[in-house]
Amino acid sequence: MRESGYDVKMNLISMKSQRLFISAVVIMWAAADWPAFSEEGLTISNTKKQVSRQDDLKQKDNSYWKKVLTPEQYKVCRQGGTEPPFSGTYVHFKEPGVYRCVACGARLFSSKTKFDSGTGWPSFYDVISSDAVELKSDYSFGMSRTEVICARCGAHLGHVFNDGPAPTGKRYCINSVCLKHEKDSAE
Ligand SMILES: [Zn+2]
Repeated sequence: MRESGYDVKMNLISMKSQRLFISAVVIMWAAADWPAFSEEGLTISNTKKQVSRQDDLKQKDNSYWKKVLTPEQYKVCRQGGTEPPFSGTYVHFKEPGVYRCVACGARLFSSKTKFDSGTGWPSFYDVISSDAVELKSDYSFGMSRTEVICARCGAHLGHVFNDGPAPTGKRYCINSVCLKHEKDSAE
């Protein structure tokens, strides 16, 4: 079974390998309330609140993000949750463009580096720029993984693994709910 970024509570005692695990999470998912992006001010908006580029987003507390994000976005972006595999909008999405952070609008990934990993989550072999994300060791759930975080707002995005395709060999396993695709001819 291929290693994935699916966070689940599990009993690893009887397991022979960390790569073997069975997950069972039942979550009710509502339709995503995607923000709209404005290119000029790079502001994003949804039905709740405006987020501007000038804000120091890493200083914002949870009460702020609860106002900005939908419950589904908050659960993954701020609480490190994981959407169920094959449930996200962008798993099989192939349109060209850029993928922005749903929380702050930062450019994170290009469609040019998206590939079908078969894991059930949108997967990329590279980030759109080296400073787009921050990486952090994650030892939760008995696994040793590398968490991928939005460098601008600190949102949890997913995990990165070393079993991706050339040229990087990386597999950025990202939750759809953390992303907002945008058509961009420049990309
Ligand atoms: Zn962000």
